Amino acid sequence: MSDCLFCKIIEGEIPSSKVYEDEHVLAFLDINPVKAGHTLVIPKAHGADLTESSEKDLRRVMTVVKQIAPTIKSVVKADGFNVTSNIGTAAGQSVFHTHLHIIPRYEGDGLAAWPHDGATDEERTALAEKLCGKIKRTSNTCCKRGENKCSL
Ligand code: 5GP
Ligand code: ZN
Repeated sequence: MSDCLFCKIIEGEIPSSKVYEDEHVLAFLDINPVKAGHTLVIPKAHGADLTESSEKDLRRVMTVVKQIAPTIKSVVKADGFNVTSNIGTAAGQSVFHTHLHIIPRYEGDGLAAWPHDGATDEERTALAEKLCGKIKRTSNTCCKRGENKCSL
């Protein structure tokens, strides 16, 4: 896609610090890392976010994450790492080409944990039923294992 920053990185029009590349996937260091080793893993085929990328590409990207993240963790001597994807501006997405962040983490690194909204058992049960009811229409499966008990 001509006006996409990450497509330009794939094409080499914009330089990047590559850490992995194959026919379908590229991984490079984030220009503004949360921690040293912060890496972005992207499919070469353009999609605005993971809901637009093919399942094949998502499998490829996740396979590369599994392959390279332990090495990144080891090289920067991290204690763990987050794998995240921001989807939509409300979630913090700023580049609209599918990407997964690998962010090295350290014990006591002080990065803020998610705040919690809280939910009662009843609220959770009702929401899960609603979600499962909607999801089964497109996924052809059901959390009730075909017993057809979803309320929606
Ligand atoms: P998002 O905010 O969409 O979840 O993630 C986009 C990421 O791309 C950000 O963490 C940002 O620092 C990174 N980024 C933005 N522009 C560039 C660039 O030109 N080169 C590299 N390597 N990373 C970039
Ligand atoms: Zn793109």
